[in-house]
Amino acid sequence: MKFGTYVFEPKKAEGFDFHLFRVKPEVGRRLPPVSDMYSNVAIFGDNVTARNHPDWISQSALGPAWRTNDNFNVRWDVLCHTQPEHRAEQLDYIEDVARHSPGVWLNSIHFADHGHCTCPRCKELWKKSGLSWLEWRRKEVTDYMKEVSERVRDRAKKKFVIGVLPDPVSSLERFGIDFDDLAPLTDEFLVVMFSKNYATPWYWEMLTRGFKKLFKDVPLNIALYVFGPGDNPAEVPAPSELVTLSVRAGRAGADGILYLTDKASQIWDFQKAVVDRVELRQKLKTYGCQEVLDFFQSWEKVVE
Ligand SMILES: [Zn+2]
Repeated sequence: MKFGTYVFEPKKAEGFDFHLFRVKPEVGRRLPPVSDMYSNVAIFGDNVTARNHPDWISQSALGPAWRTNDNFNVRWDVLCHTQPEHRAEQLDYIEDVARHSPGVWLNSIHFADHGHCTCPRCKELWKKSGLSWLEWRRKEVTDYMKEVSERVRDRAKKKFVIGVLPDPVSSLERFGIDFDDLAPLTDEFLVVMFSKNYATPWYWEMLTRGFKKLFKDVPLNIALYVFGPGDNPAEVPAPSELVTLSVRAGRAGADGILYLTDKASQIWDFQKAVVDRVELRQKLKTYGCQEVLDFFQSWEKVVE
């Protein structure tokens, strides 16, 4: 095993095998690469370019991939994957970064999320391809990664690592990523796996989506522990967390949700707490699952 740092400034901490410096993170700002730190580049998540070219933003039936679009887990603005000027500029940029550092580790190589991108250019390219929607997206991602890989590995002769999002089951449907396609193009993979700061509901939504895909037409029920037998009251989830998770699991395809408690009175406590979270329930209206919110609202009569 090897251990590395992953940092936003060009400084190496002692005691590690290697260092990965975020020369261009998803916020879009760029810093010069460093000769003895790997360079991390986010391609299509790029707030700066999105601000300069708002017409390049990725489109979908559920709205553009601005970071404010609550229908998706986008933490930054995501550009259309087929925008030709951005693709060409990023190819040259990545090759240049590779030449000035030991190698390039990529982030944000893919379509924004499921249903992206439906801009006129993407629709045209898809129709011309004669492929299914998912196969066309897959080909776009794979073909572009072939070009990037060639620039880094063959031309600059440097190490090349592709980063993917933590979804082992549905990355093809969501992002256009096929791991078998990418494996020959990369030296290693990187999966950003844990950020308690923002991503925890991501995993449960991802698991819901994954099981829904694997179970096909058989309905999927999920159970959420509200208060298990013997649970430490200080460690049970907050009602607000369970409300948010319910909405996100609902929009990912869950057909049923069970709320587990030790005693029936704890269900009533939970219902009361959910009814009291008026502001949160209001905020979640933009998350794309009204059905769950309507259900929570029906508890107003139960606890009054
Ligand atoms: Zn597009």
